[in-house]
Amino acid sequence: MTVDKHALRRKYLQERDKRLRPDGNDQYLRLSGRLARYLDDPHTPVTARPPRTDHVTVAFIGGGFAGLATGARLKEAGVTDVRIVEKGGDFGGTWYWNRYPGAQCDTASYVYLPLLEETGHMPSEKYAHGPEILEHCRRIGKQYGLYDHALFHTEVVDLEWDAARSRWIVRTNRGDAFTACFVAMGTGPLHVPKLPGIPGIEDFRGHSFHTSRWDYDYTGGDDTGAPMDRLAGKRVAIIGTGATAVQCVPHLARACRELYVFQRTPSSVDVRDNRPTDPAWFAEIATPGWQQRWLENFTANQTGSLDVEDLVMDGWTDIARRVRTRIAALPAEDKTLERMLEAFEDSDYEKMAEIRARVDAIVHDPETAGRLKAWYRQLCKRPCFHDEYLQAFNLPGTHLVDTDGRGVERITATGVVAGGREYPVDCVIYASGFEVGTDHTRRAGYDLTGRDGVRLSDHWAAGMRTLHGIHVHGFPNAFHVQPTQGANLISNIPHNLTEAGRTIAVTIKHALEHGHTEVEATQQAEDAWVELLLSGAGSLLGSPDCTPGYYNNEGVDPGLRGRLNVGHPQGAVAYFAYIAQWRDSGAFEGLEFR
Ligand code: NDP
Repeated sequence: MTVDKHALRRKYLQERDKRLRPDGNDQYLRLSGRLARYLDDPHTPVTARPPRTDHVTVAFIGGGFAGLATGARLKEAGVTDVRIVEKGGDFGGTWYWNRYPGAQCDTASYVYLPLLEETGHMPSEKYAHGPEILEHCRRIGKQYGLYDHALFHTEVVDLEWDAARSRWIVRTNRGDAFTACFVAMGTGPLHVPKLPGIPGIEDFRGHSFHTSRWDYDYTGGDDTGAPMDRLAGKRVAIIGTGATAVQCVPHLARACRELYVFQRTPSSVDVRDNRPTDPAWFAEIATPGWQQRWLENFTANQTGSLDVEDLVMDGWTDIARRVRTRIAALPAEDKTLERMLEAFEDSDYEKMAEIRARVDAIVHDPETAGRLKAWYRQLCKRPCFHDEYLQAFNLPGTHLVDTDGRGVERITATGVVAGGREYPVDCVIYASGFEVGTDHTRRAGYDLTGRDGVRLSDHWAAGMRTLHGIHVHGFPNAFHVQPTQGANLISNIPHNLTEAGRTIAVTIKHALEHGHTEVEATQQAEDAWVELLLSGAGSLLGSPDCTPGYYNNEGVDPGLRGRLNVGHPQGAVAYFAYIAQWRDSGAFEGLEFR
């Protein structure tokens, strides 16, 4: 396939320019006041319980993969009282909330699901569906006894360091004020749903909900894929065409009388090619240490290592395979950084051209096909993979309402307006994503008050500062479990979390075994780490050439904050190797134990 690179570059920039807007993240609404109802838990009733004022060794905020993986490692390290505090009614995090029809992991289950080897679970499919993933979370919780001390339907509102007693005071919205020697936080970068700031959004008199709070009472059906029979006579609008919409639109298209898909920017939708796991094959690969081997292999493939086999073989590793082949074909004297980046760009143009050709091959109506094509580099937005999404637009009741980058204009009492036309509907479903670029404290819902009364929001006012993405100077005995300033591997978020979990468990075990009551990153170590991060080339994800989205702060230059939103300058493989060596050395360089 030949591509005109100059023409494509121009077209990509034109499409970006159409979508740039000065309000960036402020275009989205915070779900408070009358909009707070969009946050209600449709899955589990809230039950009354007395407030807790006791003490635990470790409190972990967030009961998703981060809390479960860290909790499991802490239990293995001998910490018996780990208390997970979770705003949902059970473990699962994103998989607790997101039960929309068709929810499924986008990264191969064998590397996406944590602790497969430890739990002995064989994922039933290459890309497991939501209910199985939620069940896996419960499995980890049960196997490691993490339910024993957990507090569900509980949100932390404040964390305060009590220097006299070397412990944290944890306050919650349920009146709890308990203490913990150590706190760790894994609240995920994407857990606060947001709504687009469309005028009139509160005027709608029909039914409406956010995809992360799917209302099966209204739609009928369930998250295992039972048909949503109550939509048979309904006209439904779905706003947004990101990774969530790509997964649920095929189900809505089959269920609704009329489905209107309101699109501002098309997603790139590549082949999914899901299949059941063959137990004989799985038995062959699942030899001791298999999951760690697969994790390391996927990460190496994903991040440009040149000489590795590809175990996962999917859309995420496809670009890497192409780049590798191109680089291998370069004469030795041409293997410069510039030529390698060019090979990456050429592979991207080729890949995106194939993804656009796929739209033409699947979608019958040429105009609709034209509007479903993505004009940006593949990693400008979250790449999507699906084998039924594009097909849904061939159904007579499914209508693409493309807004040519402008978005929905208005919501009325009875419908949705785009391009000057009102589409009357009974229900509006917001597939409008989650807060990412907003302040940490706004997303977390609490601030930390560390040593000498310093607040984390002040310490991070000019941008995030950590050692290894985990420890923060001035905040003893507190640990962060998340990708930024660590590996920053976006293609497999759980890999970041499980590694951080190991690191934290080793650190806490060391403190307890040696009778230390405090552990804290030194100022010098934090500064050196931040300097190392800033010495890198920056993130490929945040490119200002990209169409706006949460990967590039909605196209608004975030300044130093953005430059600190990176991972190890030599990439994820280098970070994971470094942190494993750091843990194994037992020297805990950069930390001070007291
Ligand atoms: P996204 O933030 O990716 O998508 C939000 C959508 O809403 C975009 O299409 C956006 O358009 C659109 N939108 C916003 N404002 C308007 C407006 N005014 N008018 C019309 N459309 C509008 O949210 P998702 O929930 O889809 O995904 C969030 C993330 O969650 C993913 O990127 C991924 O990381 C994760 N995820 C993972 C899954 C998995 O692993 N299986 C599945 C689903 C999600 P525009 O693009 O123009 O901004």
